[in-house]
Amino acid sequence: MLSKRIPTILPPLSLTESLETTRIYSAAGKMPAGQALLARRPVRSPHHSASGPALVGGGSIPQAGEVSLAHHGLLFLDEFPEFPRTILETLRQPLEDGVVTIARSHSAITFPARFMLVAAMNPCPCGYFTDPNKPCKCSPLQIDKYLSRISGPLIDRIDIHIEVPPVPYRELRGEHTGSSSDEMRAQVERARRIQRERFGDTSTILNARMTPKQLRRYCRLDAAGEQLLKQALTELGLSARAHDKILRVARTIADLAAEENIRPEHVSEAIMYRRLDRQL
Ligand SMILES: [Zn+2]
Repeated sequence: MLSKRIPTILPPLSLTESLETTRIYSAAGKMPAGQALLARRPVRSPHHSASGPALVGGGSIPQAGEVSLAHHGLLFLDEFPEFPRTILETLRQPLEDGVVTIARSHSAITFPARFMLVAAMNPCPCGYFTDPNKPCKCSPLQIDKYLSRISGPLIDRIDIHIEVPPVPYRELRGEHTGSSSDEMRAQVERARRIQRERFGDTSTILNARMTPKQLRRYCRLDAAGEQLLKQALTELGLSARAHDKILRVARTIADLAAEENIRPEHVSEAIMYRRLDRQL
């Protein structure tokens, strides 16, 4: 559900983004018939049985893979630990650099691959570990083995990890309605406007891609925020990368709330989103 709703709250493709993604689709012969330009952010959701070249690109005549077809859009990987580990590890480069390099015998080819990764996994092989109503049948060893299929360095590169508890049937059927997609999209667009103004004419457009210098300049914390972050780092043993991610996410939470300064509650919310750092 999350992967279907995210595109509805993202800003529409800009012309530059649309041109870049259209070029990839045209070259791959995947443009929808009768369409000259892609109008919507692409959503790709390859199955875990997809081959390496299908996912990251390759082949005798190098073709763009799913990561490039998701350029400026969303890449959704369901049952994340079921993907072969070697394939998952190749996601580290595009997550970091927004490109994927395919090595050939005498050369290398680079495709753009700047996507939002959304991945879903169960808490254990049987799926009921966190379910209050059904007993989990897995042994601690089986659970460890299952979770360790996702490497620490890969988890490290994912900004937000959250646990989604099972929703009781009654609540699913309930009339309770949260914010609508339109309201959320307006909020996202406001937050992005703040970011555009912040970064001016530098090449950065999003908090997620702040340079280390920008990070120091725009993510200053007060004493209470510093204390929270320091405590989380020592207690959870977070990496330097996770530290920077917490600052970036906290900056975005503050922007969504239209707050100029990052407040301690923004920092603690961002720390809560590092769920898997505590487990793996
Ligand atoms: Zn289980």
